[in-house]
Amino acid sequence: MEQVDVLIIGAGPAGAVSSAWLNKNKYKVLVLEKQKFPRFVIGESLLPHCMDHLAEVGFIDNVKKHGFQIKTGASFYRGDHKTDFLFADQFTNGWSWTWQVKRADFDNILINSAIEQGVPVKFECEVKTVESNDTEQVTTYTDNSGKTHTVKSRFIIDASGYGRVLPRMFNLDAPVSTPPRGAVFCHIQDTKRKPEESGNIFIHSFNENSAWIWVIPFSDQTTSIGVVSDSSLVQDFYADNGAKFLQHIRNFPELKGRFTSEKTVFEPRTILNYAVGVKQLFGPGYVLCGNSTEFLDPVFSSGVTLATGSGIRAAKLTHKTLSGEKVDWMNDYENILRRGIDVFRTFVLGWYNGDMQTIIYSKTMDPELKRQICSVLAGYVWDENNPVVKKHKTLVPTLAKVIKINQSDPVQ
Ligand SMILES: Cc1cc2nc3c(=O)[nH]c(=O)nc-3n(C[C@H](O)[C@H](O)[C@H](O)COP(=O)(O)OP(=O)(O)OC[C@H]3O[C@@H](n4cnc5c(N)ncnc54)[C@H](O)[C@@H]3O)c2cc1C
Repeated sequence: MEQVDVLIIGAGPAGAVSSAWLNKNKYKVLVLEKQKFPRFVIGESLLPHCMDHLAEVGFIDNVKKHGFQIKTGASFYRGDHKTDFLFADQFTNGWSWTWQVKRADFDNILINSAIEQGVPVKFECEVKTVESNDTEQVTTYTDNSGKTHTVKSRFIIDASGYGRVLPRMFNLDAPVSTPPRGAVFCHIQDTKRKPEESGNIFIHSFNENSAWIWVIPFSDQTTSIGVVSDSSLVQDFYADNGAKFLQHIRNFPELKGRFTSEKTVFEPRTILNYAVGVKQLFGPGYVLCGNSTEFLDPVFSSGVTLATGSGIRAAKLTHKTLSGEKVDWMNDYENILRRGIDVFRTFVLGWYNGDMQTIIYSKTMDPELKRQICSVLAGYVWDENNPVVKKHKTLVPTLAKVIKINQSDPVQ
């Protein structure tokens, strides 16, 4: 029977950074990954704050070598009106850029960087059962020949993303309060792109506040494009191999014919009801991070940054626990993580109820407020010096109300 200090389930961004951090700090780790890498996963627009996490575990140089598209900001369009947020002009003192990545390549580079540093990773090994208590975890997994193995560990980090291994096993799933939404998307040739259309991601609002298009340009003249909306519209767009979806993006006025004759790289795919919630983020001998915790919505590209941020934090507290220190997992992990998630939650709920769109598309936005909002869009959601972070719950609806009653704002 194998025996390690920490077993990590999943080799996505959360698993890669947490395993690398623990390995650097001399723990015997093992990563079990169900799939063969590289593998496709959606989530291609990163946020600058995730660069802090990648730098902390020494991954940046390897990612740089690949030549991913640099991302310097986000542009929001409603009809003809456009608002740009540039990360170079933000409130928090942080990274001013990041990347737009094909996740198959990006995730492969991350986990291979961990392997280079000495992390053992077993691909095509699926975790099947976990028996967990304070001091010893017993996990079984099957390899690609179907053979079952057992591994004992002192701690488990669940970084299994949408696999949600421990939330399912331990009945931790919690209902989500948002209506069911989904996405239909593809990668598409993008040969007509202008130079200024590369270094940002583009969000186009349509159907009042209920639907939007993402455009995430890659460095190889292809682009990820998708529509997010309530599940019924997404299902309608996805029918007949995404016929209505393709028609929509080919004819969408603000895309100005950019994709009219462009070929898709793969047929449109769909994800329905992507939002997930969880009752608790830790338990005796285990912690959840990344998408095995909560995922609300992709509109502000928070997923990978929350995955790397929670992965590093989980690793650091696991280290403290295993070195015999008393750890307050509720205060030092769950509450802190949920504080950041809650800032994004306010932005997401405000996006769909219209408040955030009123603010983002306001033509009279105060430059300082814009810099503060920009830092949230850059992922710096734990910077309590930022008034938009500190007071997000009251600030967003109040600001939207003020903008709406301000008759001089020509948007209203
Ligand atoms: C439509 C949509 C668009 C999105 N767009 C963005 C975006 O633009 N930017 C962004 O940052 N995020 C985005 N996201 C979110 C992003 O996809 C996730 O937040 C991110 O992938 C989470 O990383 P992770 O490491 O937690 O999990 P994952 O990347 O999902 O990795 C988990 C790994 O665990 C493995 N695994 C699962 N079960 C088992 C098992 N039983 N045994 C062993 N291994 C297992 C899986 O094979 C997988 O490789 C989007 C999400 C959706 C739905």
